[in-house]
Amino acid sequence: MAGGWTQDGAVQQQIDASLDDALKRVRRHIPAGESLRDCERCEAEIPEGRRLALPGVRLCVACQSEIDRQEILSSPYNRRGNKDSQLR
Ligand SMILES: [Zn+2]
Repeated sequence: MAGGWTQDGAVQQQIDASLDDALKRVRRHIPAGESLRDCERCEAEIPEGRRLALPGVRLCVACQSEIDRQEILSSPYNRRGNKDSQLR
């Protein structure tokens, strides 16, 4: 019985490790530090709700969505990722 228990533990460790990697990847995209009062791109005021919801936010909603769209269009990784998720 002890052998079976050890195997379960190893599988759990593997799950923990990949979860950890996924969290690290996600956290890299979250800006850190003080939120800006004004958008650093167009200098429009960033609403307080947005600043509280996204700590370290530096762009207004309009600029952020514009940049997000440009990143999706210009990144081959995102395009490949979308295709993969469509296949699933
Ligand atoms: Zn802006």
